[in-house]
Amino acid sequence: MSIVQHRPQTAVAPPGSGEPKRHPVNPTTAWNLRLMELSKQRQYKEALSLYRHMLRSSFLPNTFTFPFLLKSCAILSLPLTGFQLHAHVIRTGSQPDPYTRSSLISMYSKCSLPFLARRVFDETHNLPISYNAMISGYSLNSMFADAVSLFRRMRREDGSSTVKFNFNSVTMLGLVSGCNLPNHLPTGTCLHGCAVTFGLDADLAVMNSFLTMYVKCGEVELARQLFDEMLVRDLISWNAMVSGYAQNGHAARVLELYHEMKLRRMSPDPVTLLAVLSSCANLGAQVVGVEVERKIEQCGFGSNPFLTNALINMYARCGNLARARAVFDGMVDKSVVSWTAIIGGYGIHGEGEIAVELFDEMVRSGVRPDRTVFVTVLSACSHAGLTDKGLHYFDEMERKYGLQPGPEHYSCLVDLLGRAGRLKEAMDLIKSMKVKPDGAVWGALLGACKIHKNVELAELAFEHVIELEPTNIGYYVLLSNIYSDAKNSEGVLRVRVMMRERKLRKDPGCSYVEYKGKVHVFYSGDRNHPQMKEIYRKVAELENSVMEIHRPDEKYRVRSEELLNGNGVHSERLAIAFALLSTRPGTEITIMKNLRVCVDCHIFMKLVSKIVNRQFIIRDATRFHHFRDGVCSCKDYW
Ligand code: ZN
Ligand code: ZN
Repeated sequence: MSIVQHRPQTAVAPPGSGEPKRHPVNPTTAWNLRLMELSKQRQYKEALSLYRHMLRSSFLPNTFTFPFLLKSCAILSLPLTGFQLHAHVIRTGSQPDPYTRSSLISMYSKCSLPFLARRVFDETHNLPISYNAMISGYSLNSMFADAVSLFRRMRREDGSSTVKFNFNSVTMLGLVSGCNLPNHLPTGTCLHGCAVTFGLDADLAVMNSFLTMYVKCGEVELARQLFDEMLVRDLISWNAMVSGYAQNGHAARVLELYHEMKLRRMSPDPVTLLAVLSSCANLGAQVVGVEVERKIEQCGFGSNPFLTNALINMYARCGNLARARAVFDGMVDKSVVSWTAIIGGYGIHGEGEIAVELFDEMVRSGVRPDRTVFVTVLSACSHAGLTDKGLHYFDEMERKYGLQPGPEHYSCLVDLLGRAGRLKEAMDLIKSMKVKPDGAVWGALLGACKIHKNVELAELAFEHVIELEPTNIGYYVLLSNIYSDAKNSEGVLRVRVMMRERKLRKDPGCSYVEYKGKVHVFYSGDRNHPQMKEIYRKVAELENSVMEIHRPDEKYRVRSEELLNGNGVHSERLAIAFALLSTRPGTEITIMKNLRVCVDCHIFMKLVSKIVNRQFIIRDATRFHHFRDGVCSCKDYW
């Protein structure tokens, strides 16, 4: 791009700018109007082409020309074109006007060149508009301290300058957008106070940015407080709160808020629905999920691939594989993400053969597998005990697709070999790893040692895993159980002391059942449910029946004794008793649990499924268990 320094002899109208002959408009103004129009229509590439055309037609740009062009460079991230434009700015006039200058600052900031932005800022005496651009630029480039220090300087200059430097909503938006880490929270809270003092709390955009800030800093309670205090709220406010709850693991509160949105006749958008679907998946709240699917159709979001993938995932994780498959089959354009969702769905249900078939079908259909889908298919092989198939895919990954396996692939493979009892091979694999093994790799080995009762290797795996994840309580529990199985009471005690020293406490076990569209939550030893008396009576009754028929060679501890001692019945037993009391005979029961099912509860579920002749589906922390007629789909390996 070069600039022409002479005035044109004949006026040439810009393409699409109307009829300049009848309306004698300054030709440059006509060009600028066209540029503005393109910028408004977000046709940034076209705006830059028009400028080239403008130069060839021998027109001189003026101060109004540059802001649109610089914005185009910023959005398209074209720093080199930006440099050229900057040169043109210098050659056309002595000093760029404030708008051009703030556009230059924004352009450099958005092209990740904040130091050049600062140079433009420092060149002359600055106006509030340049301050705002520079503050936003710093925030955008995660230079929060610089943004705050410039804000302080702006406030100081307010007192000493004739120009009114009072900050406005743009300044505040620029600053708050940089507060997205917990350590920025004290400053962010100060800014919030500042905004209220200066009357910016009536500005919806500013309040929404504070809401987002609290959420990003992990302070959902503060966010909720602000949300409740806001007099006006728009969809952005609702979405910030809904997504905030979803990202911070408050799935039940997401559904509550979604319900409130419906009552207020607030229309959701894909962002809302994605958060709601992921929460339905976590809670196993399929009834709400079905409602969301209808909403997607109603709102015309059916072609949104993110929503469709989330639907597949939701149905699979709620235990309804058939519906997940129907949604998948209905997709016209299946991306690798959609394939991953359905393969993962079959995987967690232990349907490894179908998962493997689907993987092969994906490859045949011309979709190139990525690293994530390999993790999914390997873990599907592992859940179903398809050792050779898993080894084959692992080998193909690098050889055929040039994808370097990461720790997440190795941990699937260790799990796979471990399940097959090939512990030595698993250990050799870990030793041969090209990447550093992470906690999950050693954890998989530890899990395999539990199944195959290998205390020596378990101690080695534990040593490594604890170095990498010292606070992961699950590994301490695993080792303690391994010692307990080996009747090594000294070992059990040692692990207990270690846990006490590190102040580790077990997460309370908790199970959910959805009944009539409401999610019922049970904690281990819970006594808060209104039907608790009947539920405990039912648990005791089932326990007695189980004691009568369980195989003497299967080690089974009676939980009703603990019940009498007040030690707490595991949450899934309470959930199953509740479901048996509430649902019609013969219907399937689905329960979601936050932790792994323990061995005793697993035996209990198997036998109860036989006694009451019902199918139970339990999703625990790692997979689904389908209990029917005294057996489980996991074949007792989980
Ligand atoms: Zn249990
Ligand atoms: Zn099972």
